[in-house]
Amino acid sequence: MPSDTQLNAIRTKVENGQRLSFEDGFYLDQHADLFTLGELANIVRERKNGQVTYYNVNEHLNPTNVCVYRCTFCAFRADLKSEKGFVMSDEQILHRAEECHSRGATELHIVGGLHHKLPYEWYLNIVKMIHEAYPEIHIKAWTAVEWDWFSRMTGRPTKELLAEMKDAGLGSLPGGGAEIFHPDIRTQICDYKADGEQWIRVHREAHELGLRSNATMLYGHIEKIEHRLDHLIRLRNLQDETGGFQTFIPLAFHPDNTRLSHIPKPSGLMDLRTMALSRLMLDNFPHIKAYWVMLGIKIAQTALSYGADDLDGTVVHETIYHAAGSDSPQELGVDEIKRLIKEAGRVPVERDTLYHEVIRENGTSWKQGRKLQLV
Ligand code: SF4
Repeated sequence: MPSDTQLNAIRTKVENGQRLSFEDGFYLDQHADLFTLGELANIVRERKNGQVTYYNVNEHLNPTNVCVYRCTFCAFRADLKSEKGFVMSDEQILHRAEECHSRGATELHIVGGLHHKLPYEWYLNIVKMIHEAYPEIHIKAWTAVEWDWFSRMTGRPTKELLAEMKDAGLGSLPGGGAEIFHPDIRTQICDYKADGEQWIRVHREAHELGLRSNATMLYGHIEKIEHRLDHLIRLRNLQDETGGFQTFIPLAFHPDNTRLSHIPKPSGLMDLRTMALSRLMLDNFPHIKAYWVMLGIKIAQTALSYGADDLDGTVVHETIYHAAGSDSPQELGVDEIKRLIKEAGRVPVERDTLYHEVIRENGTSWKQGRKLQLV
């Protein structure tokens, strides 16, 4: 650690578990080297989660890529009449859920496009039919942007829709659609869709209904450190209010096939610095995830020493970031995930979506163990 009075004051705060301010975060970004950031983030990581690194056995389902919005960073979406557009049938969706079940996955992560013509009931029915067929699979579905769209379509309040879908089998909300909350950036990259305040409101309502959720931040495009810190502090404020967030996932921008393809993708250095700064600023989030699909396996593994305590899961059938040029594999096997975690000097623990330990009798049959402590 260099002898720098302000940096030393920040270090003392981190060691004492005190909250870092916007100015502290800015100072760290401007003056701390990678190793200092990692060392500080690791203090928080090990205080909250010890040597454990979590993973889960999950699958992704994107029932349609047709989308009314045109986010500049998105390579996944398709126009209504585009040849690239698809809408999965009920049979295809149930087939995918069956595959998820037979592989012993504990979670189905469901997000997609906001289709111009499909009604809210189509989205509701997806949750209902999967839950009825496979009630043991946790359904983590629809980003805040989708919930906002459902409300615009139906004229009904988002909280009422969340409650209805919870009754139908919804287990929790994913953290997508957050991008960058600050309007100076948001209006340039994803104008028209739910803004930062609406995103926060949907998650507040979900938490009030007893649904847990995650949060994300898309970094490495046109935003600056000020916007990233603003984003993290808005999330921290909501977490102070509700305590409903489980995990924060920094998402590295992938430019291929997007309207921002002239911007290079973030470097490994930026990935690790963003991971560490997120861990330091989000002092009330129990978990920080290194999402290997976005980061690549090597950086995700390294991030376990830069604040991350979760590697996500087996994933399978990820299409959103692969469309934007992610060159990570479609799927990681459990043995490989465990090997990566152990090689990083951590202890692998399989969790379900709500951070209960998963106890496996064999590869595919499992039961829920104890609730893992959230600090
Ligand atoms: S990011 Fe989501 S909302 Fe934006 S264009 Fe892509 S699919 Fe649509």
